[in-house]
Amino acid sequence: MNPILKVRDVCLSYHTLSGETPALSHISFDLMPGEFLSIVGPSGCGKSTLLNLIAGLLAPECGSITLDEKPVSAGSTAVGYMLQKDHLLEWRSIYKNILLGLEIRKELTPEKLSHAEELLRIYGLDRFRDARPSQLSGGMRQRAALIRTLVLKPELLLLDEPFSALDYQTRLNVSDDIGKILRNSGKPAILVTHDISEAISLSDRVVVLSHRPAVVKSIHRLTQLQGVPPLQRRDHPAFAGYFKSIWKELEVHEG
Ligand code: ADP
Repeated sequence: MNPILKVRDVCLSYHTLSGETPALSHISFDLMPGEFLSIVGPSGCGKSTLLNLIAGLLAPECGSITLDEKPVSAGSTAVGYMLQKDHLLEWRSIYKNILLGLEIRKELTPEKLSHAEELLRIYGLDRFRDARPSQLSGGMRQRAALIRTLVLKPELLLLDEPFSALDYQTRLNVSDDIGKILRNSGKPAILVTHDISEAISLSDRVVVLSHRPAVVKSIHRLTQLQGVPPLQRRDHPAFAGYFKSIWKELEVHEG
């Protein structure tokens, strides 16, 4: 099986009036079809920058990023991006929010509309189709934001701390829920998080980045947790071992 995404030797610095901020240094990794990869690292190390590069919103200064063998580019419909804030529009119903991307792309075809209806039904939001975002819980809102992304049929999903605005208990349930939806969708995904437990509970592999300028410190394959649902992973005997080794690597960098 060939990787769907290849990140090769990628570097990026920000250039501002006050000088240069090197963010990423020679980052390389692959993502396989259907794989869930998490990226963890200290705050400010360049995680969001890396997602922006993969989304084609920034161009690397060196190296290359290819999705299905083609260089990524801005405005590509192949990448779906989910952020910390759900950015649902309060003046639109949930259904109309979910159709927003299709509307912007002028793709409101009968097939796509019925796909949107199907996703609403499968993911239990059909009862809320006419509700406004403020009538939904934080978890439901994130679910709606995910459906809005999935309805565009992206080849790859990027998630930038999508659960960090939620309180702890909700966060556990929502990450479990979203993790299952993503597994069912079969879409490959990359999650950026500073929460090691979240990364271990959701992923096939975890990439650990160093302090800025970030290099790939290590990549952990969570073999012993393969096939175990997110919430159950937290109670699995292998969980603590993975947590400790990733924690140690991050701690070394904090010093
Ligand atoms: P993380 O997501 O790991 O917290 P970011 O990718 O947001 O880190 O940022 C990496 C570094 O680059 C930080 O030091 C940040 O201050 C800097 N940075 C991010 N965006 C810009 C920008 N547009 N201009 C200048 N510096 C930036």
